[in-house]
Amino acid sequence: MARGEGHSGAGRDHRDYLVVRLGSGITATTVSGGQVVEGAAAAGGEIGHVRVDEFGPACTCGNSGCLDSFAALPALVEQARAAGESGRSADFARVLAEGRSLEIGDVVAAVAAGDRVAVQVARDAGRRVGEVLATLVAFANPAQVVLGGPVAALGDNLLAEVRAAVLRKAPTALTHDLRIDLSGLGERAVLIGAAHAATERSFGA
Ligand SMILES: [Zn+2]
Repeated sequence: MARGEGHSGAGRDHRDYLVVRLGSGITATTVSGGQVVEGAAAAGGEIGHVRVDEFGPACTCGNSGCLDSFAALPALVEQARAAGESGRSADFARVLAEGRSLEIGDVVAAVAAGDRVAVQVARDAGRRVGEVLATLVAFANPAQVVLGGPVAALGDNLLAEVRAAVLRKAPTALTHDLRIDLSGLGERAVLIGAAHAATERSFGA
């Protein structure tokens, strides 16, 4: 995804930016001076397992309260399911009544339709993500943060909270000119990046 953004998205305008993937896990890739930063074991960017609340829900990694357990795709679907079962959200209750299991597409649709619980789910996720990203912004001083992956389809409600949390928590000097945007490429960024990586490998470009 970071390579795709580099070739066809954020990388056209900047050499220093962060690409954040919001999916079944939350990961961030730092691009510094046009180069992807991978880390000692090429495992950098696992921000989904930063603990944001030690009393939070159990996480797949064995800890509790990781960012993923609040804001990754399975957590959001679970929050929607709970809201449907308890009757707090008519939209989600309707999906469950149809005998279907909820998917992120249902959450995206409910947010777009203005379901209050769904909008709150999107906003809470955005706030949690933004609070962690503030530290990355302080560290890497990116010109732009690009949010992609299936959860980014939650759109402006998510984006507004990410922006607000970063502005609230990151050093002011680093947020003056900072852009935080949803990926214009969406999931195509992954395909474009994979295609370029394959081409580079074949032709040594
Ligand atoms: Zn975890």
